[in-house]
Amino acid sequence: MSECIFCQIIDGQLPASIVHEDERCVAFMDIHPLGRGHVLVIPKQHAVQLPELDAETAQHLFSVARQVLGAQRALGWGVNGTHILLNDGKAANQMVPHVHVHVIPREKRDALATLGRLALHVTGLFGPSKPRTRLDEQASRLREQLREA
Ligand code: 5GP
Ligand code: ZN
Repeated sequence: MSECIFCQIIDGQLPASIVHEDERCVAFMDIHPLGRGHVLVIPKQHAVQLPELDAETAQHLFSVARQVLGAQRALGWGVNGTHILLNDGKAANQMVPHVHVHVIPREKRDALATLGRLALHVTGLFGPSKPRTRLDEQASRLREQLREA
């Protein structure tokens, strides 16, 4: 079994609330969301940092992230703003050594709550995880939106 937790998710060895899957990538709900409906888009190929990925796969990740953003907004999440974020390397707060694009919906006046969660992220503590039932429900709503798009 791979030691990489994201490779374990790809292989179905760790549970995840899947939003999208194709031949190149998987998108799933972040277990410690920084905003309502926070999604991670990862390549199926194990690569620690972005320069290790081929250009087509890198472009594809951002294309899927854009589609996810559209689905989130159709659900009313992040209608006022979204972070598309890639922490590339330890000094940039990359905690999981497998490339991932964050799609983080933000709300008006959520800065204080988000800053608290962000502080937990950068220390690697993360805090309590979101219940699986809630993540599954959000993933199901996003999948439905992506189907309709
Ligand atoms: P990074 O700091 O590396 O950019 O972000 C890693 C992200 O992975 C964090 O937002 C964290 O919540 C998320 N994460 C860590 N472990 C798991 C997990 O087992 N399942 C899911 N769905 N997300 C995870
Ligand atoms: Zn991996």
